[in-house]
Amino acid sequence: MKTIGMLGGMSWESTVPYYQIINRYIQQQLGGLHSARIVLHSVNFAEVEQLQHTGQWDKAGDLLAEAAVGLEHAGADFLIICTNTMHKVAHQIQERLTIPLLHIADPTAQALVEAGFKRVALLGTAFTMEQNFYKQRLVEQYGLEVMIPDERQRKQVHQIIYDELCQGKINEDSRRTYVQIAESLAEQGAEAIILGCTEISLLLTPEYTSIPLFDTTRLHAEAAAVNALQDK
Ligand code: GLU
Repeated sequence: MKTIGMLGGMSWESTVPYYQIINRYIQQQLGGLHSARIVLHSVNFAEVEQLQHTGQWDKAGDLLAEAAVGLEHAGADFLIICTNTMHKVAHQIQERLTIPLLHIADPTAQALVEAGFKRVALLGTAFTMEQNFYKQRLVEQYGLEVMIPDERQRKQVHQIIYDELCQGKINEDSRRTYVQIAESLAEQGAEAIILGCTEISLLLTPEYTSIPLFDTTRLHAEAAAVNALQDK
C-alpha cells in the first residue's frame, strides 16, 4: 500500500472527514484491522487565511510547499492538498516535489463526466468561484460548462465558509441560504452542483435538496484511497 501525504488543516474541520473516508475505504477493501498509511501535515489555518485575504499567495505557496517537502521526506508516495482554494498554488507545491500531486478537481470532474453532466455550478470560496485556477481545469480538461452564483450569493457562500464552517459552526439559516442558492442555480440550468470547498458537505447534503451534489471532499479522499491501493 502506498503512503498518502495529506496537507491538511485548511480547515481541520474538513481534514477530519478526509481521514475517516480514506480509512473506511481501506478497511472495506482490505478488511480486518487494515487502515491507511498516512503522513499528515496540519497547518495553522489562521496563518494561511491571513495570507489569502491579503493576497500573499506566493508566501502561502511557499509555506505549503515547505510542508509538502516534509511529507515527501517522511515517506509520502503522493500528495493530496485537502482544500480546493489552495490548489491555486498547486503548481508552486508540485515543482518542489518528486512525488505526484492528486489534484482535487480531477476526481470531481471525472465523476461529473461519468454521470453525464455537462453544465455544472460551482460553490466555494470567492477565490475558487471567481478566479480561473480551478474553473479553467474543469472547462479545458473535461469540457464542462461552469456556472457560479451572482455576486451577492458569492459573498454569502464565502462568508459562511470562513465565519461558520471552518470554525465548526452549523447554522440552519445558512443551510437554507445554501439550498436557495443551489436551487436558483438549478433554475438557471445547472444540472449538478460542485461542493467546491471541503467544508460545504458539513452543511449541505443530499437530504436537503434534489439537485445532484458532487462533494469534493468525498471524491478526493476516495480517489486518494483508491490510488493508495494501486501498484507503486
Ligand atoms: N476548505 C476550503 C476549500 O476547500 C476553504 C478553506 C481554504 O481557503 O483553504 O476551499
